[in-house]
Amino acid sequence: MVRRISRREFIRVCTGVTAGVGLLTALEPVIVDTLAQAAEGKPPVVWLQGASCSGCSLSLLNTVNPDIEKLLVEIISMKFHPALMASAGHQALHVLQETAAKYPGNFYLVVEGGVPAADGGAYCTVGEKHGKEVTFLEVLQEYGEKAAAVIAAGSCAAFGGIPGAAPNPTGTVGVWEVVKNAPVINIGCCPMHPDDFLGTLAYVLRYGEIPELDAYNRPKIFFPDIIHVGCPRCQYFSKGIFAENPGDEGCLAFVGCKGMVARARCHIRQWNDGTNWCIEAGVPCQACSEPAFPDECSPIYGRYRIGEQAK
Ligand code: SF4
Ligand code: SF4
Repeated sequence: MVRRISRREFIRVCTGVTAGVGLLTALEPVIVDTLAQAAEGKPPVVWLQGASCSGCSLSLLNTVNPDIEKLLVEIISMKFHPALMASAGHQALHVLQETAAKYPGNFYLVVEGGVPAADGGAYCTVGEKHGKEVTFLEVLQEYGEKAAAVIAAGSCAAFGGIPGAAPNPTGTVGVWEVVKNAPVINIGCCPMHPDDFLGTLAYVLRYGEIPELDAYNRPKIFFPDIIHVGCPRCQYFSKGIFAENPGDEGCLAFVGCKGMVARARCHIRQWNDGTNWCIEAGVPCQACSEPAFPDECSPIYGRYRIGEQAK
């Protein structure tokens, strides 16, 4: 029995998830039904990888409700994923060409990894065409704007991330600096969290529109406020009790916490199906959700001074 929910209710459920409960756990079976209903109309999804470590794909594999097999086989019409399918290279291009031709303006392109843009994109090729190498940059320029929307999954695709860190000889940038005439939704964090990605995908597939975005094109539903506001160590901050070493009791601000600029919900949804998250494990937040990551969030254990490092 499919449970139909309004857009308002969808957002309310997403933002009402409590600490330690994964969004997809809380929303099941609503998310499953949402994706399944959308898949009935088969708006296909193509996943491409650029300059990345595949960590965001691994993060997707960690999704629990629904499990990844059900998700990929039964729910999402995933036409191509280079890390999960045997095919690669020109087959990826073929799938993309075929999907773009068959579903003009009605498919979703998911991008994992940054876009090396220096020297005509020569540092990242994804296949061949007529005996000539095709760059990832060219593919995005050609097909990004043919998609209903591009979902930049993770820090690298969204903002350049670690492949775009200084001195950045490959000129790696985020997808939104290449795809200008199609909506680009940025899912921050390194890696992306499966809840943020699947929640966003469920929203666009279900309602056929882009969720409300912030100034960095992140869905406000999943990136609503800075971590510091809801941090369980905030009481220490208020009382001026600061940890001297990672793992100590107290606020981690003096050992490098950037939770004051990190807009994410890690303290609520946590990681690995609500097992733990950085600050609860005694590790300072690196603001991996932000465009400033990693250059302006470094050094990891360096004290953060408002306005001097992260923007
Ligand atoms: S640990 Fe970080 S996020 Fe938590 S209160 Fe301290 S500065 Fe804020
Ligand atoms: S707590 Fe900070 S560093 Fe850790 S995943 Fe969240 S935004 Fe990234």
